[in-house]
Amino acid sequence: PHRHRSAGRAARPVRIDIVTLFPGMLEAPLGESIVGRGRARGVVYFLVHDLRAHAAGRHRVTDEPPFGGGGGMILKPEPLAAAVEALKPEGADARVILLGPAGRRFSQDVAGELARRPHLILLCGRYEGVDERVSGTVAHEELSIGDYVLTGGEPAALVVTDAVTRLLAGVLGDGEAPARDSFARGLLEHPQYTRPEVFRGVSVPAVLRSGDHARIARWRQLMSLWRTWERRPDLLETADLTPEEQKWTDGFRQGRTPADFLD
Ligand code: SAM
Repeated sequence: PHRHRSAGRAARPVRIDIVTLFPGMLEAPLGESIVGRGRARGVVYFLVHDLRAHAAGRHRVTDEPPFGGGGGMILKPEPLAAAVEALKPEGADARVILLGPAGRRFSQDVAGELARRPHLILLCGRYEGVDERVSGTVAHEELSIGDYVLTGGEPAALVVTDAVTRLLAGVLGDGEAPARDSFARGLLEHPQYTRPEVFRGVSVPAVLRSGDHARIARWRQLMSLWRTWERRPDLLETADLTPEEQKWTDGFRQGRTPADFLD
């Protein structure tokens, strides 16, 4: 699979529509920080839509009890379909995604995949969930942000929006390179330090203060691998390792530590 590449500056800004029963949960977070910067720079824009506005009838009913009983309420398919139909004329190439715990697992690779799309429509579920027929008819796919249950899809939509937006060219500052982040090559990032040099008796590794850029780069590469080995060995099964990294990993397996590989 492709590790995430920066999506390249799009001619048109990427568009992300979010359909929700609770628009207020999304407006403020989308205006702040890096995500807000993407918006301000015209790289991406977000539109939040109230699902209720697409429900029919005087009472604008969006949810009803489940067939078969069991309690709780289920989001009806028609308002979600109507909301997507209302957005589609402007973006026949939109990717429609339903957020749900039974979906494909969201990851940095999936974020990279979505960052290359011109238009995303994210559908947030609520209550006991969403009528099954939305998947496959209205939505192209279902995405889960992890093995836990949220009260609604809104936090999940924010997670997806944040991770996708920061991959778009022009969103991050010059110093912040997605290519160096955790997961960029399928590994965790090396540890990072800033001032002071000693904090609660713990010193910054001397190599980082040496000014020797080649040694620093080697230390970071080694520590990225060590951290992955210690904390997320599962990632090493699919990571693209250089021959030297492969040699280090074999060493870790035999009980060696980074100190054994540093001069
Ligand atoms: N009864 C459902 C089940 O057991 O799968 C859970 C419904 S949950 C309380 C309500 C809504 O929150 C879901 O329709 C979905 O949109 C969202 N949601 C909950 N957990 C999620 C997750 N891990 N990833 C993405 N969306 C999630």
